[in-house]
Amino acid sequence: MASPINSQKTVSDDEEIDYSIKPEFYDSDLDDKDELWIVKKRDGRTSDAVLSCPACFTTVCLECQRHEQYVTQYRAVFVVNCKEDKDKVLQHNAISPNLGKRMRDSEKIETGSADNERVNVVLCSACSTEIGVVDSQEIYHFFNVIPSEP
Ligand SMILES: [Zn+2]
Repeated sequence: MASPINSQKTVSDDEEIDYSIKPEFYDSDLDDKDELWIVKKRDGRTSDAVLSCPACFTTVCLECQRHEQYVTQYRAVFVVNCKEDKDKVLQHNAISPNLGKRMRDSEKIETGSADNERVNVVLCSACSTEIGVVDSQEIYHFFNVIPSEP
């Protein structure tokens, strides 16, 4: 017998190494699912409306979700003809009166996040009208836009 205990030990060491690699597979699996979710979402025509700038009617979003309670508020990830006003960082619950007047019922942007979350003002890239905000998770919230059928 040429030390069977040692060779058994080696096998079990290898197995332990295999287990430690497995989490990487789980991660890539999650990535695939996220990608599929986006593809499915884009192909599934789940957009509630096409949004346009209220001042110059430039299209700013082709794919958005209408807020469940605040029907003039829309949430989106993919936007067009938008720019962020980097100089104007707002606190989550300190939206300027100019922005707030269109949503006096809600008083705040509904993101489901902490109150002190920082958001950036989003402007129409064509005429620089303030049309919404983007939060720290790059989710756009539009509330000064004109919706039309997708
Ligand atoms: Zn505009």
